[in-house]
Amino acid sequence: MSHLHLASPPLPEKFDPGIIRARFPALAQHVNGYPLVYLDNAATTQKPERVIRAMDTHLRRDVANVHRGVHALSERATAAYEASREAMRDFLHARSSRELVFVRGATEAINLVAATFGRQRVGRGDEILLSAMEHHANIVPWQLLAQQSGAVIRVIPMDDRGQLRLEELDDLLNRRTRLVALAHVSNALGTVNPLETIIEAAHSRGVPVLVDGAQAVAHEVLDVQRLDCDFYVFSGHKMYGPSGVGVLYGKLELLEEMPPYQGGGDMILSVSFQRSTYQEPPYRFEAGTPNIAGVVGLGAAVDFLSGLDRAAVATHEAQLLDYATRSLESIPGLRIIGTAPRKGPVLSFVLDDVHPHDLATLLDRQGVAVRSGHHCAQPTMECFGIPATTRASFGLYNTTSDVDRLVAALGNALEVFR
Ligand code: PLP
Repeated sequence: MSHLHLASPPLPEKFDPGIIRARFPALAQHVNGYPLVYLDNAATTQKPERVIRAMDTHLRRDVANVHRGVHALSERATAAYEASREAMRDFLHARSSRELVFVRGATEAINLVAATFGRQRVGRGDEILLSAMEHHANIVPWQLLAQQSGAVIRVIPMDDRGQLRLEELDDLLNRRTRLVALAHVSNALGTVNPLETIIEAAHSRGVPVLVDGAQAVAHEVLDVQRLDCDFYVFSGHKMYGPSGVGVLYGKLELLEEMPPYQGGGDMILSVSFQRSTYQEPPYRFEAGTPNIAGVVGLGAAVDFLSGLDRAAVATHEAQLLDYATRSLESIPGLRIIGTAPRKGPVLSFVLDDVHPHDLATLLDRQGVAVRSGHHCAQPTMECFGIPATTRASFGLYNTTSDVDRLVAALGNALEVFR
């Protein structure tokens, strides 16, 4: 059977992290002789059976190109591909599935908006407003645009807890501002930004807002209509889906005005050597054969998350972050980087003068996977006067015993360094 989405989903199951965990085969393995503790979820999440099975079934039985063939396999592949788009519409509470473009990930989605909307609307002396805590994916595409157009990048600063200084917003938003682009949740600090306030301030001056939701989509229940953002972007692999696939949500009236991103098959209505005409959104922005298996897997990830009690997941993750914060704070010499009152399940820290890479290596030897480095957020690190942090980031399958293993492993590592 194709990957189908039910019109009215069953009631969500009761959330139990222990039961959920068993559905992620990769979590059952040993690493370096220890049961794996996976705390690198902000980089990428593990995949549940449901996603693996959906992709496996597609690859075993339904492989065909989409939107083109009239044969049974192509119809099946197309139905599954478009069913994923509809499931995603429901997940984001978008008005229309035409507002959802499948892309490679958050990075490509931002590049798409910069290359189309940006090139159309941003000129010399215009301003693009970012925040001080952006991932490089939400900085570099705008810099490239600024270099081409003569526009200027401006930045909402943050305080030493990792909260944006909203009192600066009034001055930063001006008649030259063409777009605000900022993270929903910071990948390096965990800060959840007050999007409603920022979007309202931008819209009151007629400025559209792009939200980088890469770190939010697995944790926050989204309603893009209520949020009223103009664009919302994210990657499948951080929400228990496959890599190489992600989503650009854009308000239909904006997408309709935007020129194509890449040219090629599937995005056209007609082609001659003199001129070509283009499809309506979203197909105008999906040139070439897409990542069909990836989209099918992403649809399964949406079904997986939608089948859970998301409020219970959020409560579990918040309690876990709280427990981990208290546990790590008790380690002498450890400083948490990013202490905003509203945070996603991300815990960045530095430990005396131990290099984060050395620390992460020693943790890995004890089966604990964390991330170390600048987390593709060098300007964020600069704000805190550090080159790098160690980062533990949690998913819905993590438990307090994972945190206890992290703390014990940190204790062992410290003995090596001291
Ligand atoms: N934005 C944020 C906040 C991220 O954390 C990441 C990845 O870590 C990205 C964008 C880029 O995502 P991708 O590499 O999947 O395109």
